[in-house]
Amino acid sequence: MLPPVRCFTCGAPIGHLWEEFKSRVSRGEDAGKVLDSLGVTRYCCRRTLTTTITYIEDLAKYSIFKGKREKIVRKYFLVETGEGEGESWRP
Ligand SMILES: [Zn+2]
Repeated sequence: MLPPVRCFTCGAPIGHLWEEFKSRVSRGEDAGKVLDSLGVTRYCCRRTLTTTITYIEDLAKYSIFKGKREKIVRKYFLVETGEGEGESWRP
């Protein structure tokens, strides 16, 4: 779902490494060498980073709020001024 903040097995903080790991691997670098350069030596942490799949963007397509965001913002956060497009944020 989301990148893990800590290793699931040993609890070492690894969340701060996710973005760099992901970007370097997507550019074609070898995942093992990237982990070595980031100082991730334990195999549990390496497993956690290499097997993470972030599919939050895929799930967001099926959110119950899809297409309703504008309506919700208008209902709860915007106040109609009665002058066409003029709207103001409710304090
Ligand atoms: Zn670990």
